[in-house]
Amino acid sequence: MSATTAADPIGTYVRGHAFKLLIGGELCDAADGATLQTVDPSTGEALTSVPSAGAQDVARAYEAAAAAQPDWEDIGVEGRSEVFSRLAAAIQANEERLAALDAVDGGLPLAAARVDIKISLANIRDWPTLVRWHGGRTIPASPGNLHYTSYRPYGVVGKILAYNHPAMFAITRTLAALIAGNAVILKPAPQVPLSALALGEIARDVFPPGVFNVLTGGAEAGDAIVTHPAIKRIGFTGSVPTGLKIQQRAATAAVKHVSLELGGKNPMIVFPDADLDAAVDGAVSGMNFGVCAGQSCGSNSRNYVHGEIYDDFVSRVAERLEAMRVAPAYADDVDMGPLVTREHYQRVMGFVRSGNEEGARLVTGGDRPNGSTEDGGFFLRPTLFADVSPAMRVGREEIFGPVMAMASWDQTEEVIAAANDTELGLTASVWTQDLTTAHRVASRLQAGYVWVNDTGRHYWGTPFGGAKNSGLGREESTEEYESYMELKAVHVILRGRGG
Ligand code: NAD
Repeated sequence: MSATTAADPIGTYVRGHAFKLLIGGELCDAADGATLQTVDPSTGEALTSVPSAGAQDVARAYEAAAAAQPDWEDIGVEGRSEVFSRLAAAIQANEERLAALDAVDGGLPLAAARVDIKISLANIRDWPTLVRWHGGRTIPASPGNLHYTSYRPYGVVGKILAYNHPAMFAITRTLAALIAGNAVILKPAPQVPLSALALGEIARDVFPPGVFNVLTGGAEAGDAIVTHPAIKRIGFTGSVPTGLKIQQRAATAAVKHVSLELGGKNPMIVFPDADLDAAVDGAVSGMNFGVCAGQSCGSNSRNYVHGEIYDDFVSRVAERLEAMRVAPAYADDVDMGPLVTREHYQRVMGFVRSGNEEGARLVTGGDRPNGSTEDGGFFLRPTLFADVSPAMRVGREEIFGPVMAMASWDQTEEVIAAANDTELGLTASVWTQDLTTAHRVASRLQAGYVWVNDTGRHYWGTPFGGAKNSGLGREESTEEYESYMELKAVHVILRGRGG
């Protein structure tokens, strides 16, 4: 299937459009003319080339951002909130284009890509409300003394992103830094550059030049941001190995504040008294098959189901997975799209092979839909392995694809230990009708975000982020806002007697 068929009108637009970096309010190519190619994962065909930024572009973006930031800080939250309102209107006017770009470039089913833009719009509107009256505090002091704290933005912030929600992350994961008064240099993932570059075109007409910069590129551009001595705050979303490298590299340039939103191998624990229909729904929806083909950091990829209900649970989940239609992201009747690249598809297939070789029971999936060939796009049917032991790779490692692992358990202590037996700790969920069990187990799970009788859903305003090797810092909340500012303590000695 070609990306320029009538079913895919955005393909024609993409091929005819010159995508550019946004630096200092100017749309431009990379200084050295380098480009990177992007591919439609639903077809495997090349889509277009876009600029691939390097160190020179990062240096230029820094200069522009540093020049623009003081005025951006000076207009205060009130002024920045007005700009956010204009941003929301401009994105809304381009909603369909952004969603279609994520479908064709990132493989997100169009309906899911549209939801991502809706979430982004809600976030743009919510940030000003959340932080409008946010302040420091006064500290009790003796009469005649006044101690208080205040917050100041860092200046220029570098944001480096993963690929799985291209437009949504480009928007939502830069908002806290911006509303706090920083200028931002955004580097989206090289697999999915198009919607971030389109966002750059939109933002150019909204932000003062230099406040918002978009540099597409790979590890080289990311490293140039991380090691730039004057960019003191780095916000990263991506894999654990890259996160570890970023911490090390940042420290070679300066003392920096680095936040890391990393991977997960997230346990879902189902007790025998759980509402089974709701738990089956949660197990399927929490995997985000329909949003990003299971390429989701917070998905419940490890499922521990009590022995009394295990067989029933496995067959009910399998039935749901088998009913999913796997198809090109922009098809009308698609439940799940492709994986993002051929390389990642092959990596996930490697996990499927290892599951089979290590003795997990393949209940459904593990192959391509309808006998299609890899040349036709990077598709894998939703896959369920049962009887997975902790020693198996599919039970331990983040796969970042549409592959679920399931195991049964009998003793509560044993399942808590199994759930915590990993270096990762992003999300977890507990399913039971017993309040005491719910709170006791939730408190003992080593994860940053725990659901009880729910999974997958982000409740904006509550802090999201990982424990252990899943990350550093929290997002989607006032904690994220504060993390984009330096805290200052001021001490005032009032010498006059006054009255
Ligand atoms: P990745 O680590 O390969 O790449 C992420 C970003 O880092 C990309 O923009 C990439 O170009 C850049 N990068 C790569 N090497 C770099 C270097 N040396 N210096 C600076 N930047 C560099 O991750 P990915 O494959 O794009 O995304 C998948 C991973 O992201 C998964 O592990 C997933 O769990 C995680 N993720 C986490 C969250 C979260 O909120 N916790 C959200 C989405 C994805």
